[in-house]
Amino acid sequence: MVISQNVECLICNKVYFTRVAIGLDSYQKHYFDCLDCEQSIGIAVRSKAPNGHIEAVENCKLGGFDRNKTIINLHPSFCFPVEKYHDAMFFPSIEGVELLQPHLRQRDGAFLQDVASQFDIPNADTMWGKVKAIYQLSHAEGKDKALAKLIKDYNLQRSKVKVGDSNCVTYIDVMCEFYDALFYPRINELYEPIERLIDQLHEAGKLDDFYNYYKESLREENELRYLSVFTVYFKHRDILGQLIYRARINNSEIDGRFKRL
Ligand SMILES: [Zn+2]
Repeated sequence: MVISQNVECLICNKVYFTRVAIGLDSYQKHYFDCLDCEQSIGIAVRSKAPNGHIEAVENCKLGGFDRNKTIINLHPSFCFPVEKYHDAMFFPSIEGVELLQPHLRQRDGAFLQDVASQFDIPNADTMWGKVKAIYQLSHAEGKDKALAKLIKDYNLQRSKVKVGDSNCVTYIDVMCEFYDALFYPRINELYEPIERLIDQLHEAGKLDDFYNYYKESLREENELRYLSVFTVYFKHRDILGQLIYRARINNSEIDGRFKRL
């Protein structure tokens, strides 16, 4: 669903007609540069899907619904071709769904597959906070009860939107489920070299030794590195969210597409 409203730049008073797609998150920020004074304008959508409203965030005030003002198209999950950025009739989700459709996981018995929830995690930054807390509680003494509650909560939230139920038991299950949901199907490609190494070690009779070495010397360091990398990713998710769907399906045809960095 797309909502719209006039937004006025507080510096030069140029007025825009913003058309903003409602994504899955309850709060979605968007920034664009004023075409006249070139200063940044920030708005946000506060939503309870499928409804939502626009709020002013930075250097702007909200106005009426005059469609004759310069159009600015915004979408939290898809990027726009430059020539469609001011087009009142363009919906990037139609193009995006066509690209993603062949990669959907089939849900048993469901006729229609939900592209949005398979290619994004609703309120992913909040869920990321839970994943980090689950990791930290797993490595603390005497926190079993709080940990079990958090994992149960994680499973409940993920089961609402994913294909099949989420049945995580340990923090490793949670991390694997979360990373898979963020980067499927590309994550399979990232896993291939690991799978090859496991096969090679198995054939050479060295797999058990490697597992022991990995657990003792590498696992914690690697997990902390993942936590750090993903924390940085979530800081920039407002921007990266419009490109990540293409990275996930190995589609790099983004030249000539509007991307504000
Ligand atoms: Zn301006």
